Amino acid sequence: MLNGKTAVVTGSTSGIGLGIARALAADGADILLNGFGDAAEIEALRRQLSSEYGCQVAYCGADMTKAADIERMIETANRELGKIDIVVNNAGIQHTAPVQEFPVDRWDAVIAINLTAPFLITRAVLGQMLGRDWGRIINIASVHGQVASVDKSAYVASKHGIMGFTKAVALETATTGVTCNAICPGWVLTPLVQKQIDALAEREGLSNEDASVKLLGEKQPSQSFTSPEQLGALAVYLCSDAACNVRGVGLPVDGGWLAQ
Ligand code: NAD
Repeated sequence: MLNGKTAVVTGSTSGIGLGIARALAADGADILLNGFGDAAEIEALRRQLSSEYGCQVAYCGADMTKAADIERMIETANRELGKIDIVVNNAGIQHTAPVQEFPVDRWDAVIAINLTAPFLITRAVLGQMLGRDWGRIINIASVHGQVASVDKSAYVASKHGIMGFTKAVALETATTGVTCNAICPGWVLTPLVQKQIDALAEREGLSNEDASVKLLGEKQPSQSFTSPEQLGALAVYLCSDAACNVRGVGLPVDGGWLAQ
């Protein structure tokens, strides 16, 4: 049980981050939500999580491309929750284009959000975690942290980078009560993936359902999406005492993608 623990989950206003924030709150943690969206909807979500799970839920709309915003988010979590025990570096974006046409500003944004933000956050919180000799850093990487796909050079580079960073932090903290691991999902049906289904449907004149089946068929042998709830349950496990010697790994939840 995570009673008495506090967690910062980046990019938790939708998709996987929200699934993980819910699961940590359900297990007793106080939470800081982060991400973009309609202010009234985010406030309603904050209140709903707090009343459903009886925990404290803070929110900071920090932009993960901005170092000053990240600092503000850490200050907000320390002030409103008292400390930071768990960080889930989840916020992430995708952009698809062939390398020779890849817009430089999209490359910079993907690397900033998917790779540099987790570094800045880890750098800022590790001292207090080591001071209490307990901490969990969970990086949401991807199967694209292990293998590549065409037209995703920035994403694949950022996710391979976060795998390397995860291993480096795990080694530096190996004799302490702080662990650092990654989760490597395959396809999860979230707004990030819906955009790719929409693009496929338009490109090939398919219905939403046929495009989803085609997308899954290309890479994910189970032919079914992983859910944010399943990833939330894995994050809760990584925060448990049972996982205290799981260090520096990338756990695939990919319907067999990497087994091919
Ligand atoms: P999503 O688009 O549903 O959610 C992304 C979240 O990040 C949202 O809350 C959004 O507001 C927030 N966000 C985006 N840009 C931000 C910024 N600059 N600053 C702060 N917050 C920002 O995406 P998702 O599918 O839930 O993806 C979450 C993570 O999981 C990402 O790191 C993604 O690479 C990874 N992932 C997703 C899949 C998948 O199939 N959906 C697969 C593997 C890995």
